[in-house]
Amino acid sequence: YFVSPENFGEGSVSIGGEDARHIARVMRGKAGDKLIVSDGVSREALAEIALIGEGIVTVSIIENMPMTQEPRVKITVAQSLPKGDKMEIVIQKCTEIGAAAFLPFLSERTIVQYDERKESKRLERWRKIAKEAAEQAHRNIVPEVAAPLTWKQLLKTVNRYDAVYFCYEKEEGLQLRSAVAPWAAQLGATAEASALVIVGPEGGFSENECREAEEAGAVSVGLGKRILRCETAGMVAAACILYETGE
Ligand code: SAM
Repeated sequence: YFVSPENFGEGSVSIGGEDARHIARVMRGKAGDKLIVSDGVSREALAEIALIGEGIVTVSIIENMPMTQEPRVKITVAQSLPKGDKMEIVIQKCTEIGAAAFLPFLSERTIVQYDERKESKRLERWRKIAKEAAEQAHRNIVPEVAAPLTWKQLLKTVNRYDAVYFCYEKEEGLQLRSAVAPWAAQLGATAEASALVIVGPEGGFSENECREAEEAGAVSVGLGKRILRCETAGMVAAACILYETGE
């Protein structure tokens, strides 16, 4: 269970909200049952249930555990907001695969509207999906999901990453695999690194966006000969990077 760092004490941890209900009602937990708790950032521990109270479960830490499940390449998936619930699929599947963060953004051909004031519920839901997918995949961290950025805001973040891949459906030259392979070889077996993959909406990217992304420092890459749905491209890109880096 992922618990917010404030509830993560030295010898014990309190679990509230839906997780407490899940332990009490679905898992029918009882004192002495073992479970794993993580603050989703830097601590994970084997613990046992000490007390099941009204809406809160207290567990005692048995031993701290090393955080070994995370890939050393931290992949951020920047996804131009797709229609319907496809962003949920992107977050769920890319979290299972090993992505570290999500940056939804709005681009020239984004079809859906996003009104930050009205749609905070949507962001909350995306974060909940990331948490549940991280639990199911036995991740050590819960990937961050940022509030949607504009295209210009996204371009300003590009220089924070060691490698930036602009997935362009019209790219006929460099393929992601060929771009990642030399970079992965350079990294060696232990160094940590970060990568950003940028994926377009249903209608794809414009040539202008491709040029702006390249000017900002991204490398335009293809993901093979077939055109993938917008919700598939991020999964393929993340899996390809982790394959090449051996994770
Ligand atoms: N019309 C389909 C849809 O509704 O999902 C396909 C959309 S595709 C144009 C959406 C995005 O996925 C592209 O902008 C690109 O980022 C990525 N993509 C899909 N296939 C790709 C490929 N073969 N190479 C590189 N990027 C690709």
